[in-house]
Amino acid sequence: MKPPYNVILLDIEGTTSSVRFVYDVMFPYVLRKLDAYLESAWNDPALGPALDLIAKDAGSESFAAWTADLTDESQRREKTAAEIRRLMDGDIKATGLKALQGMIWKDGFESGEMVAHVYPDVPPALDAWTSAGMRVCIYSSGSVAAQKLFFGHCEAGNLLGYFSDHFDTTTGPKKEAKSYETIAAAVGEAGEKVLFISDVVAELDAAKEAGMETRLSIRPGNKPVEEGDAHESITSFAQVSIG
Ligand SMILES: [Mg+2]
Repeated sequence: MKPPYNVILLDIEGTTSSVRFVYDVMFPYVLRKLDAYLESAWNDPALGPALDLIAKDAGSESFAAWTADLTDESQRREKTAAEIRRLMDGDIKATGLKALQGMIWKDGFESGEMVAHVYPDVPPALDAWTSAGMRVCIYSSGSVAAQKLFFGHCEAGNLLGYFSDHFDTTTGPKKEAKSYETIAAAVGEAGEKVLFISDVVAELDAAKEAGMETRLSIRPGNKPVEEGDAHESITSFAQVSIG
């Protein structure tokens, strides 16, 4: 039997994975490693662009200008670390912060100190869907680079091979129909041949407006949502009928 969709498009937090993982594991990891990371990576040329972004987010022209009054490196590192902690305390999603977090997470995942969470029904569903000839893609507010790190280092192993494409907010905001039209065009499918699964109703509304099929993901720890008639809900990927 031919599957009803050609592409299954997945959100991550609250859908493939626990929202709590980000707040209970990934953010605390950054705070724990921040000082040691800055010290060890301080002369790494890859850190420079992130530091400039952090300084720009703070209203300066560059990292050099932002720290011009500080004479030694340890003071510059302390100012950087204090700014990162301030942004994270306020849950402020700044570009420079995200860049530095990404670098620290890369270290954590690649060293095996951090292992990404996915719900147990996810790997078998990815296997079943791809075996049935469907493509599976990710659309998350986390950067494509972070998505690849995450799914490359899961409790269930490296799941990256299941995904044929990754999208992040460089494609567009997750609550706008236009973003879903862009994704449908990028995967070469009509909207109705794409099934989008997410825990956020506003995202599902936008996908539906773009003609996509939708499922509302109900997972432990998700914010309670009002289940309405607009989107069928599921508590496991095993409930997605594939023909
Ligand atoms: Mg989500």
